[in-house]
Amino acid sequence: MDFDVILVGAGPGGIYCAYELSRLAPQLSIAVFEAGHPLAARRCPIDGIKIKSCVGCKSCSIMSGFGGAGAFSDGKYNITNDFGGTLYEHLGRQQALELMRYVDEVNLRHGGEGTKLYSTAGTQFKKLCMQNDLRLLDASVRHLGTDINYIVLENLYAELKEKVTFFFDSPVGEIEQVEGGYAVHSGDRRFTCRTCVVSVGRSGSRWMEGVRRQLKIPTHSNRVDLGVRVELPADVFSHLTDELYESKIVYRTSKYEDLVRTFCMNPRGAVVNENTNGIITVNGHSYEDPAKQTGNTNFALLVSKHFSEPFKDSNGYGESIARLSNMLGGGVLLQRFGDLIRGQRSTQKRINESFVTPTLNATPGDLSLVLPKRILDGIIEMIYALDKIAPGTANDDTLLYGVEVKFYNMEVEVDENLETRYKGLYIIGDGSGITHSLSHASASGVHVARTIAAC
Ligand SMILES: Cc1cc2nc3c(=O)[nH]c(=O)nc-3n(C[C@H](O)[C@H](O)[C@H](O)COP(=O)(O)OP(=O)(O)OC[C@H]3O[C@@H](n4cnc5c(N)ncnc54)[C@H](O)[C@@H]3O)c2cc1C
Repeated sequence: MDFDVILVGAGPGGIYCAYELSRLAPQLSIAVFEAGHPLAARRCPIDGIKIKSCVGCKSCSIMSGFGGAGAFSDGKYNITNDFGGTLYEHLGRQQALELMRYVDEVNLRHGGEGTKLYSTAGTQFKKLCMQNDLRLLDASVRHLGTDINYIVLENLYAELKEKVTFFFDSPVGEIEQVEGGYAVHSGDRRFTCRTCVVSVGRSGSRWMEGVRRQLKIPTHSNRVDLGVRVELPADVFSHLTDELYESKIVYRTSKYEDLVRTFCMNPRGAVVNENTNGIITVNGHSYEDPAKQTGNTNFALLVSKHFSEPFKDSNGYGESIARLSNMLGGGVLLQRFGDLIRGQRSTQKRINESFVTPTLNATPGDLSLVLPKRILDGIIEMIYALDKIAPGTANDDTLLYGVEVKFYNMEVEVDENLETRYKGLYIIGDGSGITHSLSHASASGVHVARTIAAC
């Protein structure tokens, strides 16, 4: 065998797996294959001046490379079983939380010390939410911020590169079963290993689907989350964000009884483009350093769509809607809430005259031409519900960027060790469909590393 263990993907799942494995079993030879660039070479060409919107790089520096999709994220590590994945269904609630706390400790030891841990425990906002038909989910959240998150990744890489062989710009093509293990193909090279850990995240979802089909690994679930990113003056939400940083709030619509939730809240942050398989959607982040913060807060409002038989392609459905916004706007569409309610498209003039200055250069347009009525109705209802706990949310000038899509990988069938029906083949992180967050993905990597080290 060329290596004892090959990891595919250097996002949080892959990094934490490599970290824990090299710590617990230093005798093992470990290789990591990553489709994107090393951390220092990751640069999104959008500078806001010469290049204002996504140019569709072959390897998207926001989504790929050392650090994965999390590298330029807000670095919010949520320690909770309430959202961010269903790791607890495989490991149990207590163990899942312990792994997330361990990841937090490692982050603190690698540059995250001094960052703030926020918690919903004992907050008055739970009651306020309940009184207004909203539910605040429980969580502790460590906010590293985009800047400290980057430093943590730099420090982890400096330590790992001494112990692990990294292959960057090396997308894995095929994983082949061979006697005693697996052969991993990248370009015209082929490497064998005893154990293979796949951690390809959302950007690897199409590739993962191919591997899953080839190896006939069963899957469950058929879900996509669709919605918009809301941007408003930071003061509107500051009473919540100053205490909780991120509040995950759920609302059940009165019209359809659909659940709408806030997601990825970025106080004093910026809205950014996200490129998934060539489709431009929207996301957000914020910095820990006050000098880099903006005057706006952004968060997503998402509606989960679960499909039943015979429809199987929930991601395809999400992609089609995102494509529609790309078709109309050349990328992400932007609309003032007031314009949406009045049934008129936003124009550049209306955006310029707005009291809220957008942090992302997006095309003014009409989101009602893109989002299905049921989803849009749910979002509008929730904006009015949020207005009761954060007055100003339903102001005319509140900005809505669309579309935000959370693609979920089909949930692969794995056991309590996240091992597939093939011995020595593990699937972790967001690529498994089991995790959807930094903390859960990282925790899944630690869990598998401990399993492999104990073999
Ligand atoms: C802008 C943004 C902000 C976010 N903010 C937060 C946040 O604040 N908190 C939070 O919890 N989550 C956040 N997320 C989500 C979070 O980043 C992901 O949940 C997390 O990164 C998943 O980790 P992962 O290791 O499973 O996958 P990823 O981070 O996606 O990493 C997978 C890696 O595998 C590589 N890869 C894919 N296919 C192949 C292949 N065939 N061969 C080799 N390599 C391959 C990719 O290039 C990538 O680097 C954010 C995401 C984005 C895009």
